[in-house]
Amino acid sequence: MVSDLIDSLAKLRDPAACPLLVVKFGSALLVGSDGQPRQKRLHSIVGEIAARRQAGQKIVIVSSGAIALGAAKLGLAERGRRSLADAQAAACVGQIALARAWTEALAEHGLTAAQLLLTLHDLEDRRRYLNAAATLERLLEAGTVPVINENDAVATEEIRFGDNDRLAARVGQAARASAVLLLSDVDGLFDRHPSAENAQRIPVIDRIDDSIRAMASADSASGLGSGGMVSKLQAAEIATRAGIALAIGNGTVEEPLAQVLERNVGTLFVPHGEAGARKSWLSGRIAALGTLRVDRGCGEALRGGASLLAAGIVGVSGTFSRGDLVKICALSGEPLAQGLSEYSMAEIKAIAGKRDNEQADVLGYAPRAAVVHRDHMVML
Ligand code: GLU
Repeated sequence: MVSDLIDSLAKLRDPAACPLLVVKFGSALLVGSDGQPRQKRLHSIVGEIAARRQAGQKIVIVSSGAIALGAAKLGLAERGRRSLADAQAAACVGQIALARAWTEALAEHGLTAAQLLLTLHDLEDRRRYLNAAATLERLLEAGTVPVINENDAVATEEIRFGDNDRLAARVGQAARASAVLLLSDVDGLFDRHPSAENAQRIPVIDRIDDSIRAMASADSASGLGSGGMVSKLQAAEIATRAGIALAIGNGTVEEPLAQVLERNVGTLFVPHGEAGARKSWLSGRIAALGTLRVDRGCGEALRGGASLLAAGIVGVSGTFSRGDLVKICALSGEPLAQGLSEYSMAEIKAIAGKRDNEQADVLGYAPRAAVVHRDHMVML
């Protein structure tokens, strides 16, 4: 991965700086208001993808649109998003049509599509994640164009990505991509609502802080997809922490890839230094089962590279067992880190605030070296 070189949108088209690019297409780009695939747009996008491949860049597609296509076929209200059961049924019907649309369009350029349907759990569980990563690697080596969607048929409310933005970021990690490009119906991140007077697009973002988060609005203009700018920022945090660049661009224009990669219309989130593979996986995990609140001194120690000790914990919530993912937050609620807990929630409740020598009595056994060891923790 050489993605730390990517500090401008133009670098995304350079196969040396970006040998593998994940491109995510939102539902509204691919499905018309009549519930049919937008064939013309699909063909022009695939033409651009074929050109990138010719230029020596590998491409992974993350495609939404199953729910929108299936809902039209089944005549479901609210475009299939009235209930989870509706969305799941719609996805089952629509995914077939979606896969077919991509397969046929790619085949016209001599490219072979390969379908992967992934759930959040497939990427949160380390072994399944590695398995998905190995499959992706083999598919790319075999010259295919992987087309990925969430496995909506089985993903339940609590264990869903729900939006393909974060899925695309996680796929970027699993595929060891250099960059992820999220195409939707906006040109990028604006400093205020894009339709507001004087709204300015921000071309490059080095660091996602509260001022950047404040610019994101949860509205999705089309109503077809589920992501808004909030989920795109979350995706950007996952990707950039893992050393992967993330760009946002407009897919509704004539040549969406050229618009971002050649005309540089978009927003680029610059990756942070490259994280080790395991830590990068850990930082991208989404489904924390509990939260540990820590005092100020403990927060500072964590920032300085220390493991989390029981003495600094002032609050515990959630339901988790040893080995589960927990978030570590400051008293203000500000997330500081996340990592794998060495203890169950009940055990942490019992030892929170206690020093090492007091813990053995409560636990009935010698305490472990830390509540969350630094090797199993990433700062957020
Ligand atoms: N997986 C959903 C679908 O294919 C889309 C999720 C999203 O809106 O990003 O319809």
